[in-house]
Amino acid sequence: MNRTLPFTKEHIEDILQQYPTPFHIYDEKAIRQNARHLKTAFGGVHGFKEYFAVKALPNPFILKILKEEGFGADCSSLPELLLSERAGLMGKNIMFSSNDTPAKEYQKAKALGAIINLDDISHIEFLEKHAGLPELLSFRYNPGPLRTGNAIIGQPEEAKYGFTRAQLFEGYHLLKAKGVKRFGLHTMVASNELDNAYFIETARMLLDLVVEISAEVGIEFEFINMGGGIGIPYRPDDVPVSYEKIADGVSQAYEETVHRHGLRPPKVFLECGRIITGPYGYLVSTVLHRKNTYKQFVGLDANMANLMRPAIYGAYHHITVLGKEDAPPNHKYDVTGSLCENNDKFAIDRMLPEIEIGDIVAIHNTGAHGHAMGFNYNGKLRSAELLLRENGKVVQIRRPERPEDYFATLDFEQLENFK
Ligand SMILES: *Cc1c(COP(=O)(O)O)cnc(C)c1O
Repeated sequence: MNRTLPFTKEHIEDILQQYPTPFHIYDEKAIRQNARHLKTAFGGVHGFKEYFAVKALPNPFILKILKEEGFGADCSSLPELLLSERAGLMGKNIMFSSNDTPAKEYQKAKALGAIINLDDISHIEFLEKHAGLPELLSFRYNPGPLRTGNAIIGQPEEAKYGFTRAQLFEGYHLLKAKGVKRFGLHTMVASNELDNAYFIETARMLLDLVVEISAEVGIEFEFINMGGGIGIPYRPDDVPVSYEKIADGVSQAYEETVHRHGLRPPKVFLECGRIITGPYGYLVSTVLHRKNTYKQFVGLDANMANLMRPAIYGAYHHITVLGKEDAPPNHKYDVTGSLCENNDKFAIDRMLPEIEIGDIVAIHNTGAHGHAMGFNYNGKLRSAELLLRENGKVVQIRRPERPEDYFATLDFEQLENFK
């Protein structure tokens, strides 16, 4: 896997004149190229559309770029709906897939004309009561023991999401009886999965169900949504998926199900987050301290508030020391942040070139589930987000948090009068 960066040390030093570390920086050119690659690969798949999972990188500038590339938004909360609306996405360009959903969120999704995807059979009545049933509805399927999950998402049977197989049949019968006219079918069974075959199997599973449910319930499906979950090569030896192979497999499954049974062809949707932006983001940080005790530590000005994945999943994120790309990686370090939790480490026992105070590091693959997952525990503030434009210029698309942001929900006037 190629680990070249879209910037040099000199370029970053220029950027530092205006924007101090730490920050996440996203490569617009690479995001657009990847979006076009996905669309081209799936060009032969009926009605293909990608709904970007907003939770992966909830920044309206990114949503606007992806909208220009023809993507919609996959939302799961009220703020995500509002953010998508701000980026100009509405109606069929939003898929609303949430769970344990509050009434307010259904009301907003309905008002935006978003495609609503229900997580449970009991939500049919809940939605009807609080927002009214739209003309088009979709259900999230949980195959339970019929599919195996993977480490990040766990086994489908244990998952809180979706309808059982029997509930799907019952649910579509119910929708039909209530006068709903248009139908979709959704699932999400993998996360960070690199096996092409897994996604083809998911498409086949959904298409087989479309055949069965159509016949039994007497309805037609407008779309299937294969969910997200396409993985990215975090580790240098991981092999990326092939969009072409997945698309070819989906087309073949389509041929053998939809076409063989002469069904009205459902559109095929994806709602990936990670693979759309993940590889094109970098957390850039400066080395503040070196510490030698029982181990050698390198302390950064970033911490797990900026990138949680290593701490919560033990995830690998590649690290490049800028300007030392070609130096031998002959030092073993734990690369840490400043949070008072011992799991605040970006890397453990990582072989890197010798690091000095003031060195700048780029932590790779932070463009999805990076900044977004951050928290304020320990009074840690989240960093800025920068966009590296196609002309090499940089735009700040989110400023860093300040202490006032952390205090914004507190009323200090009330405190003064508090006895
Ligand atoms: C998280 C999520 C996605 C996106 O997952 P990625 O792994 O980022 O592709 C899509 N759909 C649903 C329902 C999700 O919860």
